[in-house]
Amino acid sequence: MAKTTSTLTPQPFKNEPATHATAPSSATDGFFQTPPRLENPFLEDEAYKRLFSFYLPKPLQTSLSTPIARFGALTLAPSTLSHVHNAESNPPRLVSHTPFGEPSNTLITSPGWQALQSLGLSEGIVAIAYEHEQGAYSRPHQYLKYILWQPSSAGVTCPSAMQDGAARLLSLHLASKDVERSETERRVFERAYKHLTARDAEAWTSGQWMTERQGGSDVRNTETLATYAPTFSPEESTVDTDGLPLGPWSISGFKWFSSATESNMTILLAKTPSGALSAFYAPTRRQAKAASTREHAPKTELNGITIHALKSKLGTRPLPTAELELNNTRAYLLGAPGTGIKTIATILNITRVHNSISALGLWARGLAISRGYARVRRVAGTLLAATPSHVAELAHQHTEFRGLAHLGFFCVALLGIAEAAAPGYCPSPPPPADPATSAAAAAERLGVAVEQAPLLLRLLTPVAKALTARAAIAGLAEGMESLGGVGYLENEDVGVNVARLFRDANVLSIWEGTTNVMAEDCVRVLKGRGGAGAVEAVSEWVGGRVELWEGRGGESVVRVWEGFKKIVEETSVEELKVSGREVLATLAWVVVAVLLGEDARRDGDAVTGEVARRWMARRIGVEKKDWREAVEWDRKIVFGEEKVGDRARL
Ligand SMILES: Cc1cc2nc3c(=O)[nH]c(=O)nc-3n(C[C@H](O)[C@H](O)[C@H](O)COP(=O)(O)OP(=O)(O)OC[C@H]3O[C@@H](n4cnc5c(N)ncnc54)[C@H](O)[C@@H]3O)c2cc1C
Repeated sequence: MAKTTSTLTPQPFKNEPATHATAPSSATDGFFQTPPRLENPFLEDEAYKRLFSFYLPKPLQTSLSTPIARFGALTLAPSTLSHVHNAESNPPRLVSHTPFGEPSNTLITSPGWQALQSLGLSEGIVAIAYEHEQGAYSRPHQYLKYILWQPSSAGVTCPSAMQDGAARLLSLHLASKDVERSETERRVFERAYKHLTARDAEAWTSGQWMTERQGGSDVRNTETLATYAPTFSPEESTVDTDGLPLGPWSISGFKWFSSATESNMTILLAKTPSGALSAFYAPTRRQAKAASTREHAPKTELNGITIHALKSKLGTRPLPTAELELNNTRAYLLGAPGTGIKTIATILNITRVHNSISALGLWARGLAISRGYARVRRVAGTLLAATPSHVAELAHQHTEFRGLAHLGFFCVALLGIAEAAAPGYCPSPPPPADPATSAAAAAERLGVAVEQAPLLLRLLTPVAKALTARAAIAGLAEGMESLGGVGYLENEDVGVNVARLFRDANVLSIWEGTTNVMAEDCVRVLKGRGGAGAVEAVSEWVGGRVELWEGRGGESVVRVWEGFKKIVEETSVEELKVSGREVLATLAWVVVAVLLGEDARRDGDAVTGEVARRWMARRIGVEKKDWREAVEWDRKIVFGEEKVGDRARL
């Protein structure tokens, strides 16, 4: 495996002023830039520290700080980064035939990719949510790890996201009293759930196959056909890799994008002969019938699936995104025929939260690299960290990040509350209920009513998905520029390769629903049947929180919110859809203003107060500061209380 150069080992940095060189540089002598040093975000990143203490109560901060600090270090360990390097250097490939000419259709992924997948699973990047050990805070715990993991994961988080969505879907399905289920179906779904929530070698990831050539945003044109065919032909295998019966539905069609191609199962959309768009569960592999007749024949085979081609992509290159042809893929129907969109929405509501935290994770790493570089790079004899115009843009980026990080994590917290209040299937008895981590306690801490958490979550998930993705892409473009020419390079050091992060971020505004699709979704919620309830939930939460601010801008936030409400009430759905992106932006501004205000209020943190003031200044008049004072705040927003020259390396 190729070695990465380590920028993580402290580099000696001499702080003497630049001297006039006596001889010109050669390829091997002269000036070499000290690389930026990446530090454990749990210890270095002020924004991360604020999220950790805002979204977890004190006792959990205490019990989780050591394991999360360890995990933060692990995400930057040379061994982890060398897996990323290996995965990036060895993109997946498709082998169509064996050396002896037999058809093979085998997907090869790199050892680095596989190691990262196992690492993420064993760290509970999905399982934490289903172990329920932190009650309503299990989701914040999970995503506080996830945000650290994303930039060092080479994109294994994509299958993990779908795994999480599938686990939630199956847990709700298994817990539902309204669904009729045969004994076989119960066994099959319970087994899948067990795999999806495992940490060990038994753990499964899942695919999510919706998009076809006719459209990904609008899946109503799905052409894939599901036929009820409970009788198997003698040539067909009848059991999956666990020896459980394959499903009675036979599915054929063409799926245009499948990211988690090597997953063990999938949830997919297909139409029944009556045209009812429905959701199905299918294992991707089955026991091979041929195994009994041919020597050395593989024991398992794909479940009626041919990997037609792998996509060539701008980013997420280690992730095997494929086109798949389905021919008699054996599957089980999930829910009633015709409820496909509703069923798949359960998965999407989870994967969109993953998408938000993925965007934040990539962006956070970009910001960390920019900070690190500013501490070591001199321009015109001055460190960038002491160059006001450079730090001003970094401060702008950090303010944007801190605002949108709250939006993402607010959704995470709401998800935790909603799930704790309405738990799904749980195979083993959950840990004893702790009142301190109950849905009620978590909701009270956040200032929301438990019953309103699902409404807020439904409304804000598309807002967070859309805006974190767009902002991360723009932020990482700034991040590249902040390193000058080096920022644009596809350098071998994956730890500080901002171009890689930028490439990877670009898909986040497309998959799981484009920005326009998110805007339309948000408008649909606002103007739909549950709209009044969702608006009421925001009103109560905003009103209840700013009441605690004793003035300090609260009334202005309420004014913007009331103005927004009026527009929503008075505008038709069609018109509102046209300005859907402004709907997203205004809603996000209000929610973030409240969250930043709350974050500053809880402990009077002055830097957070300034971040909140700057966020509010985008929409309401706030007092302008003297520029010298503003420069000082810029520095604090980016570097915290650290003074330029404070630290040995500066
Ligand atoms: C790397 C990668 C991996 C992927 N992995 C998967 C996967 O694993 N499983 C899967 O099912 N799909 C996957 N996708 C597909 C992805 O979800 C779709 O590409 C996406 O949903 C958009 O669908 P589309 O490509 O058909 O574009 P279209 O739906 O044709 O969209 C084209 C344009 O129309 C706009 N548009 C669409 N609807 C509206 C509307 N109502 N109002 C306004 N504008 C609109 C969109 O914003 C977009 O700009 C993947 C895509 C990529 C790039």
